[in-house]
Amino acid sequence: MQQAYKKGTRSPDGKPGKNYWQNHGRYNITVTAMPPDRNITGREQITYTNNSPDTLKNFVFKLILNIHKPGATRFGDADSDYLTSGIHVDSFSVNGQIKEWQEPEYHYTWQSVRLSKPLMPNDSAQLSLAWHYEISLRSGREGMIDSTTYFLAYFYPRIAVYDDYNGWDRMNFTDAQEFYNDFNDYTLAVNVPKNYIVWATGELQNLNDVLQPEYAQRLHSSMASDSVIHIAIQDELAAQKVTAPNDMNTWRWTANNISDVTVALSNHFVWDASSIVVDDATQRRASVQSAYNDTAEDFHHMVSFGRHALDWLSHNWPGVPYPFPKTTIFQGYAGMEYPMMVNDETYSDTVFSRFVAEHEIAHTWFPFYMGINETRYGFMDEGWATTFELLIGRSDLGQEKADYFYRQFRVQGWISDASAEEDIPIITPGNILDGAGLGNNEYGKASLGYLAIKDLLGDELFKKCLHEFINRWHGKHPVPWDFFYTFNDVSGMNLNWFWQNWYFSNYYTDLAIEKVDKNKNGYAVSIQNIGGYAAPVDVQVNYEDGNTETFHQTPALWKADQKNATVNIPTKKKIKSVQLKGGIFMDADETNNTWNAK
Ligand SMILES: [Zn+2]
Repeated sequence: MQQAYKKGTRSPDGKPGKNYWQNHGRYNITVTAMPPDRNITGREQITYTNNSPDTLKNFVFKLILNIHKPGATRFGDADSDYLTSGIHVDSFSVNGQIKEWQEPEYHYTWQSVRLSKPLMPNDSAQLSLAWHYEISLRSGREGMIDSTTYFLAYFYPRIAVYDDYNGWDRMNFTDAQEFYNDFNDYTLAVNVPKNYIVWATGELQNLNDVLQPEYAQRLHSSMASDSVIHIAIQDELAAQKVTAPNDMNTWRWTANNISDVTVALSNHFVWDASSIVVDDATQRRASVQSAYNDTAEDFHHMVSFGRHALDWLSHNWPGVPYPFPKTTIFQGYAGMEYPMMVNDETYSDTVFSRFVAEHEIAHTWFPFYMGINETRYGFMDEGWATTFELLIGRSDLGQEKADYFYRQFRVQGWISDASAEEDIPIITPGNILDGAGLGNNEYGKASLGYLAIKDLLGDELFKKCLHEFINRWHGKHPVPWDFFYTFNDVSGMNLNWFWQNWYFSNYYTDLAIEKVDKNKNGYAVSIQNIGGYAAPVDVQVNYEDGNTETFHQTPALWKADQKNATVNIPTKKKIKSVQLKGGIFMDADETNNTWNAK
């Protein structure tokens, strides 16, 4: 990372360096699905531009679907329904020259291809691939939802990121580290039999070619409507009158400056749509759509939930207008984000359904608008999604309920387990972790760190720093240091002690009252930081007269001395007891949080 600063691709003030670069691909993809046939075939042309100062002697392709191969390295176990033979490249050419394709060794999810002529800086190459794969019977992030409903994700061979601090991304996908992609331009054509509807990342280019006029009109009017419009209901789908009456329909999409495309298709999922103003300055609306099995009760509310999420997240936290023209919430078997698409399960508890939808939609900003390297630094995306999830939850449910849920869902598992693997530094590259260590680092601990710095800076300054970070790095590839340095730069404070404390340590949260001394101004409460994390805390003082007063301490309490601090209670009254209350910053050992006067 230091080399990147020396080369000036990154800058110590947190801005992209004067020599910052990133590579770019233009993808033209045609994919054909013929359910219930499980074979998916595709071809693609890629124009890949080398903006780096380096001469590229090889390309690295990502072949994520090889995760389904028997023997592939995975975090979790896989049953036979999950397994397939992976993705197969049937033909491959570079600049018109046909080349032999070598399958990767050891079921890797990437393959390096040597170029006969190196790709020079500022030059581009034309690649052409044809490929096929069998869709997995058991769906997680992608695969078959039912015999005539497919969700295609990570589905096409993609050129890996070549970046300024690590070169080619040769990381093997093990089914947890989700995204690290270039910002590419896509045209996508999806061939499906008649009566199949396609939902995908991007803007539909030919709605009048693929939908019957009545349905095209409904979709069109939803783009300007605040109410939820049923684009296609069960009876209309059963009567086969929704899509254009051709044997095959080609649904065409475009999406530019985006990190991935995802496709869903079904012949029986119902379809709702509406839209909402996400940018007050320009009155720009974003489309909100949902596709689901009519039997899924909660999904009948999903477009309303989606509208609310886009509205709230655009206007409050992060408080940056939803950056895409659309979102589609598709009913699958994951709680999984994709650019402009969400693949969510159905739940009987609609409050939980809304919670999941809000979390996945919050990912729009991190990692998709900001090109986070989630494979290595997942805390830069899950941590933010978890933070926004809490903040929108407080608005939806009230602080008490939302905080309770956050404690149970995001913090309890970590803080109640004293095992060392629960407390690995957040900065640890995600690819070498699994289980609890990875989960804690990406979600709960990272989010608590963001909420702690929010508490330290106050909402106004925190938002200013966050917005400047987004402003500087959207559409690019920020690393943790770009985030740390931007906050230092914009706040005008050297917060390195805080970043060091939260993101580079094996600390946890455990405060203790060491003693309470009476002095001439009142009392001095000595607090010991046993766990080490610079967490905010409420010092609750109970007076003998029955009154209670709370003295909120921001993490600044730990700036001078990260192990010991004193909180002065200026009072003439007599104190009966003192209690430390961390709230969502759960304390690992609460037995030492109370002091009682003798
Ligand atoms: Zn997430």
